[in-house]
Amino acid sequence: MRRWNGWGDDATAMDLGAGARAMLAERLGPGHAAPDARRDDLLARIPPSRLPAHPLIDTAPHARLAVAWGESYADWLRKRCGHLPPVPDGVATPASSEEVRALLDLAHAQHWVVIPFGGGTSVAGHLDCPAGGRPVLSLHLGRMNQLLHLDAASQLATFGAGTPGPLLEAQLRAHGCTLGHFPQSFEYSTVGGWVVTRSSGQQSLRYGRIEQLFAGGRMETPLGPLVLPTVPAASAGPDLREMVLGSEGRLGVLTEATVRVAPLPGHESFHALFLPGWDAAEAAVRALVQQRLPLSMLRLSNAIETETNLRLAGHARQIALLQRYLGWRGCSAGQCLLMLGVSADPATARHALRAARGLLARHGAVYIGAALGRKWAANRFRGPYLRNTLWELGYSVDTIETAVDWPQVTPLMQAMEQAARDAFAPFGTPVHAFSHLSHLYPQGSSIYAQYVWPTAPGGFAPNFARWQALKRAVAAQIAAHGGTVSHQHGVGRDHAAHLAQEKGALGMQALAALCRQFDPHGIMNPGKLLQDGGPWAD
Ligand SMILES: Cc1cc2nc3c(=O)[nH]c(=O)nc-3n(C[C@H](O)[C@H](O)[C@H](O)COP(=O)(O)OP(=O)(O)OC[C@H]3O[C@@H](n4cnc5c(N)ncnc54)[C@H](O)[C@@H]3O)c2cc1C
Repeated sequence: MRRWNGWGDDATAMDLGAGARAMLAERLGPGHAAPDARRDDLLARIPPSRLPAHPLIDTAPHARLAVAWGESYADWLRKRCGHLPPVPDGVATPASSEEVRALLDLAHAQHWVVIPFGGGTSVAGHLDCPAGGRPVLSLHLGRMNQLLHLDAASQLATFGAGTPGPLLEAQLRAHGCTLGHFPQSFEYSTVGGWVVTRSSGQQSLRYGRIEQLFAGGRMETPLGPLVLPTVPAASAGPDLREMVLGSEGRLGVLTEATVRVAPLPGHESFHALFLPGWDAAEAAVRALVQQRLPLSMLRLSNAIETETNLRLAGHARQIALLQRYLGWRGCSAGQCLLMLGVSADPATARHALRAARGLLARHGAVYIGAALGRKWAANRFRGPYLRNTLWELGYSVDTIETAVDWPQVTPLMQAMEQAARDAFAPFGTPVHAFSHLSHLYPQGSSIYAQYVWPTAPGGFAPNFARWQALKRAVAAQIAAHGGTVSHQHGVGRDHAAHLAQEKGALGMQALAALCRQFDPHGIMNPGKLLQDGGPWAD
């Protein structure tokens, strides 16, 4: 069963080996493990629903609590510390576009707020419920989870928008196809959520971001359906799919998504290389991605992340042997781990791997084979489970990501790590900050920074204050270096204050006008993307 107050299935746990525990203790000192809030206590505090009885709407407290939050650090704190946020007044689970239509017509007529809910994996406050004011209805799309149509000739598949990753891939694999979209939240996130948050999967280098995969679909808006037909390409004015991509539930509810699928690759493997220091590593991956080889994944860890991953891997004896080998090959202090994926027909994969290894070797890379890659692939969706383990040991974790053109990649990566240390310093809290580049483009790269720090005693308020300081400090550096507010997690409520810096005043007016066009009563997910949400609890 899915954990109510942590990541993932409660039958899955990730242990932290002795080496990793020792590293945390060395760098951060002891953690502060606080007792968890009880769900029953939260359920008992949920106020009565303000919605009338309706056959499609569940107003039971447990159903409402489950959709009251996502997976951001702030959500995590609320759950673990028992800080009850405003909770939707009811949850509808429509099974078709027609049922979504009927519910939206009702909400539009009654001026209820509507928050679409996909897999609930948002890490940017997309699902926060405004306090007071109008009744709030959560539209949970979990029953709309089927492959509705496959056009094999055009390699197009239409899914109910609430289809989560594993179910989507299983239904495609039965036809020998894949979407190839594997965000780390794959277990729970949905195709509709991916589209409206502009998600990016781990193998985007081969398959593209969701923007490239989303071919069309159907969105029910408060004013009626918006149908996006599929065509291979068009010069018919602005592309209306771009309004839906990144719309974050503001324009309507995506009920059907047609996506571009591909045949399953004949060969897929992941390989590990080490590079001697960050400068060599950055130059190597830039040259590699600009050569446009048919690779499916590049993921470059900086030196601190490399050390962290090796300590997390356990197996101290094997790691010591590996370090001796790397030292002998001239790749010891400051080494950076590069994971490289190939997914193609066997001949193309062989050629791409050979060409990539040749280029990387010229930058001093040491190839160590596919064993680490196999381990990575087997555990590719298990990393987030470590958040549970770390919390229980008394440590907090958050991630912040962006993307920027190449000249700013290294300066911004360093500035994001330093900003975290500066933000925590006034609290006397140490932080372990490390980063990787995982979505690389000829023009630049995403930067994904992870932060671990000892949870503060005192529950919600002191920890929320630390997290806000972190977010503010890192966001300031992202803006100063010309990075985007988000490469893949979206804007939500948490990043809405920074969006104007990226879009400009006229751009923000255009976005607000677009929302008004489809949603004149402002019922759709207010306060996300744009700061127009009314009162909030914290
Ligand atoms: C551990 C972890 C790892 C992650 N890894 C990645 C990653 O690798 N890449 C990545 O891109 N993201 C990642 N994310 C972020 C998150 O998974 C994505 O933003 C994802 O696209 C959200 O999908 P969802 O179905 O869970 O949407 P939800 O969280 O349910 O909703 C997100 C937003 O979309 C709206 N929405 C959802 N469905 C619809 C719909 N059908 N119509 C209209 N609006 C809708 C909601 O109202 C909300 O505003 C990760 C998150 C976690 C917790």
